[in-house]
Amino acid sequence: MKIIDAHSHIDYLTHKHQSDVVGSVCCTNDENQWTQLIDLIHNDKNIYGAFGVHPWFIDSVSDGFDSRLEELLNSDSDYMVGEIGLDKYKPNMDKQIDVFIKQFNLAVKLKRTVCLHCVGAWDKILHILKQYDKSKLPIIVAHAFNANQKILEQLLIYNNIMFSFSKINVYGRNCRIANIPNDKILVETDGNMDVCLMDVVQKIMTIKNESDIAEIIFNNTQRILKHG
Ligand SMILES: [Zn+2]
Repeated sequence: MKIIDAHSHIDYLTHKHQSDVVGSVCCTNDENQWTQLIDLIHNDKNIYGAFGVHPWFIDSVSDGFDSRLEELLNSDSDYMVGEIGLDKYKPNMDKQIDVFIKQFNLAVKLKRTVCLHCVGAWDKILHILKQYDKSKLPIIVAHAFNANQKILEQLLIYNNIMFSFSKINVYGRNCRIANIPNDKILVETDGNMDVCLMDVVQKIMTIKNESDIAEIIFNNTQRILKHG
């Protein structure tokens, strides 16, 4: 079995610790981590970088961060955008939206995969998505997905939205995997060393009753790495 972690962080790169995991998409939290991640990528071809500012860290944002992000994304066509998004339980939603949209616009302009964090703010994300031409949207990976069925249905209208799941999402009572097409499923640790990705894939295999699911998930990951 070959697995790529679709969402991890600098402190825990899954492929270095779990034998079936052959690569890790690594997201940054803030601008301070950008150079750190570039160094990691240059020393390990199995790390796939996503650069951005996470909604929990918008206080770290300084003037011109979006031009610096654009320059960085232009320096390597493999780079993705993330972790970006909105979180209802964190302060300053207006600034969160502003920081998110600036980064999302870059992803749309440069056609880069987005690693999306959304907690309790799907109404806002759906409203923002409606402002764009559907056919021009990049791949968007909704990470640690656990929203309700109604929201899922509104997201499934978009061909480019994919969903990644950690242990808590596949065992939780709100697990939506059964209702998500196989070609939109990914797995992730979110940098949590207690998550064994092989177990997550096996649980998905049981839910879907699909013996090829590991290969399908692996191929889905290739799609996000190639920005579609
Ligand atoms: Zn994360």
